[in-house]
Amino acid sequence: MHNKKSSFLWEHFTWPEIEAYLKTVDTVILPCGAIEQHGPHLPVDVDYFDAKYMAFKVAEGCEEPKPLVLPPIPFGVSYHHDDFKGTLSVTNDALSRFVYDIGMSLAKNGIKKIVILNGHGDNAPTLSYAAQMINRDAKIFVCVDTGETSDIDLLNLIDTPNDAHAGEIETSTTLALRPDMVQMDKAENETLKFGSKFLDFDNERSVNWYVQTHKISESGIMGNATKATKEKGEKMWEIMIHNMVRFVESIKNTPLEDLYQRRY
Ligand SMILES: [Zn+2]
Repeated sequence: MHNKKSSFLWEHFTWPEIEAYLKTVDTVILPCGAIEQHGPHLPVDVDYFDAKYMAFKVAEGCEEPKPLVLPPIPFGVSYHHDDFKGTLSVTNDALSRFVYDIGMSLAKNGIKKIVILNGHGDNAPTLSYAAQMINRDAKIFVCVDTGETSDIDLLNLIDTPNDAHAGEIETSTTLALRPDMVQMDKAENETLKFGSKFLDFDNERSVNWYVQTHKISESGIMGNATKATKEKGEKMWEIMIHNMVRFVESIKNTPLEDLYQRRY
């Protein structure tokens, strides 16, 4: 999908083209992924591929002039998966500094709104920290979406509680996009049950907490991958892209000052 010149991919412009485009659009999407184990049945690039795919589809779904899409950041904070081979991790410091530098550079180019589209849950605190610092120093709008715009809808589509990683959701979304990359014969059920309901990932009253994956899962799956289907995955993508398009359209068409405070 990235072979021919796309009108909204930052890397496909020449500098005079991008200078002209920036006069019509002040919004950019920055996809952030991870390269980490996703169980014995999914490739290690799921979070990277999905963030990249979603950013492309969201921009494609927006009206002209479309938001710009940056090249995705492939690596993330994944040391909780260190016991599983194939996992590559960068530190929180390195990732936040990297995203901060990109954000400051975008601001110099005239970008006023950055949507960080995060494909990997454990990047969230680090990306939020970077977003806060970019806002402090460049005075522009920066937000992080790690699925919040659609989580509640996705929960209604699945049967598995605490389906956090390489389970029913991610196996379904990968079946929908890349069925050849899914080894369903190796999919397992590792449904998680914790000692307190305040630890549940899908409880709206739960706390943020951290654990090494090998403590709670033998296969690296957190959830039930055997429940995944292509149909569920297609529905999930449709919902996630639709909601994110609505969000990006709403901020893209709103001047920065009005975004902070709508004056009636
Ligand atoms: Zn993932």
